[in-house]
Amino acid sequence: MNQSVENQIEELREEIRKHNHNYYVKDISTISDYDFDMLLKKLEALEIKHPEFFDKDSPTQRVGGGVTKNFETIVHKNRMYSLDNSYSLEDLEDWEKRIKKIVEGPIEYTCELKYDGASINISYENGSLVKAVTRGDGFQGDDVTTNVKTIRSLPLKLTDPFLESFEIRGEIILPLDGFNKMNEEREAEGEDVYANPRNTASGSLKLQDNAEVAKRPLDCLLYQVVVDRSNFESHSEILGAARKSGFKVPETMTVASSIKEVFDFVEDWDEKRHDLPYETDGVVIKVNSLRQQEELGYTAKAPRWAIAYKFKTEQQSTVLNEITYQVGRTGAITPVANLEPVQLGGTTVRRASLHNADQIQKLDIRVGDFVFVEKGGEIIPKIVGVDLAKRPESSISTLYATNCPECDSLLVRKEGDAKHYCPNEFTCPPQVTGRIQHFISRKAMDIDGLGGETVDLLRKSELVANYADLYDLTIEQILPLDRMAEKSAQNIVTGIHKSKEIPFEKVLFALGIRFVGETVAKKLAKHFKNIDSLLAASFEVLVSVDEIGDKIAESIVAFASDEQNLILVERLKAAGVQLELSAEVLENQSNLLEGKIFVVSGVFYQMTRNELKKAIEDNGGKVSSSISKKTTFVIAGDKMGPSKLEKATNLGISIISEDEFIGLLN
Ligand code: AMP
Ligand code: ZN
Repeated sequence: MNQSVENQIEELREEIRKHNHNYYVKDISTISDYDFDMLLKKLEALEIKHPEFFDKDSPTQRVGGGVTKNFETIVHKNRMYSLDNSYSLEDLEDWEKRIKKIVEGPIEYTCELKYDGASINISYENGSLVKAVTRGDGFQGDDVTTNVKTIRSLPLKLTDPFLESFEIRGEIILPLDGFNKMNEEREAEGEDVYANPRNTASGSLKLQDNAEVAKRPLDCLLYQVVVDRSNFESHSEILGAARKSGFKVPETMTVASSIKEVFDFVEDWDEKRHDLPYETDGVVIKVNSLRQQEELGYTAKAPRWAIAYKFKTEQQSTVLNEITYQVGRTGAITPVANLEPVQLGGTTVRRASLHNADQIQKLDIRVGDFVFVEKGGEIIPKIVGVDLAKRPESSISTLYATNCPECDSLLVRKEGDAKHYCPNEFTCPPQVTGRIQHFISRKAMDIDGLGGETVDLLRKSELVANYADLYDLTIEQILPLDRMAEKSAQNIVTGIHKSKEIPFEKVLFALGIRFVGETVAKKLAKHFKNIDSLLAASFEVLVSVDEIGDKIAESIVAFASDEQNLILVERLKAAGVQLELSAEVLENQSNLLEGKIFVVSGVFYQMTRNELKKAIEDNGGKVSSSISKKTTFVIAGDKMGPSKLEKATNLGISIISEDEFIGLLN
């Protein structure tokens, strides 16, 4: 009997691994999202019921329970070297001359793209991922294993390991699509956008909560296997074997038999790189034979058997015709350079972002100037300097806009903010549309049938000027709009009606209070239980809530002190939108555990670990990840870590069982 449960668990794990690999490594979809979730849930349930078959490499172990306060420093077993750089065919030919003096016979080269992210060294033992360490200074780095394990394309366990124990190195990257999506979400929440994918990727590895890391679309591209001894003869062979074992080794890699061929690869990718889903800033060329690599060895800083070729950052000079200003959804103003069209990286560039007033002042950018435009992060081209020699005599320095280009309101700039804002949130057109678009979006009110363009149309036709107006819309009003079919009009009205069932926490997010994102909205909903007590709360009360900081509190107070917001909220209430927690949710909540801090450790039977944590929080208690003097109770399940047990005992903290905890609640 037990044997069959164990088999069932193992089979489920294997099946999930296979789908994961197909989806995240091979880019093919072999199961629907729904069916995949069902498989995972089934496995989770079995694992909870049978903790004796726990496996740290199970697909269920990618996320959860992983809050790291301090990342431990780990000395690399094998130093992580840097790479020498080259910039031209001549540089590459010089490199070839140098190495031909050391090794004899023909030399083969591998060409790989230089992936632009954060380097990582991952150790595997007996086919299991055991540790992931950042590069650090090359000698020692930080242990970021729990965060790296959330990256779906990286195998936790190899079904058919190509080596028993080895280290594999790669680059953790954030593909451009995912990066742009993250920024769109941040913009919608009124937060500053991330500067570039590379820094965002390396920043992600240092987040404390691995559930947050799991939400980021990180990927891991592998480029090197480090092993003491093996039967492999070449770098390409060993990487091929790693790929077959389940690692994401990009197919763009090739083997070249001469420097001429290497350079063909370089020139080819200098063009094609703009179509890649991620950023690359060059090519890495390596001597393919492992024996020749060993002969060549290392200089003080880099291997002699490898060299990086850096692509030129493309730069062009062109005339700046005009500076215009764009208004974002949150009222943030972005200055835009309108340029004399110029060819750059295979596209025609007409506009470039100027970021903010400081940037314009720092570079002293003026209309009529010849400016240097660069395409760095491949996203929006930027202006990196001014050709002062070509500056016309008549040139006058730039005066930053004082009024909103859309509604003429006087712009404001708060201390510490890099950007200017249009304060007219209620009638400035892009802000009105933006707020409504945020309100109806999937993670907020999730109103089907209503898209961004329709919202703009509704606003222009003066049918809606704010989100509360949506609830007064009728089919008769919508029908006359441009290209509106009866069915679509019906869908919009039905969608709006259905949104009255959306729970309070999402409504709170939908209101678009600056800095109140999804997670903060959840916290606030749970704490205040309804909109009236939230909006009545003072700054002091707000900051006393766990994880609510000054910035958020200030923003809520500002929202609540604006009469127009209060009217909107009252209208939503009258329309039947959920502005308090439902009776059902409230019923399961109490203050029974107020002031008590819990640490949850081990495997449980009656509830999952997450259910336990939720029960603690729902009843006013707090969950902490590590045991300290402040801990009130440790809830100990099966297989609680011995070091935790020892620490709790030493500090004299009460250790209770799952049953005893449930007893506390009743
Ligand atoms: P640098 O930081 O400029 O000295 O370049 C060395 C870094 O390039 C290494 O630490 C790797 O993280 C990174 N890198 C990216 N792609 C590759 C690749 N295909 N092969 C080797 N290193 C790479
Ligand atoms: Zn405005």
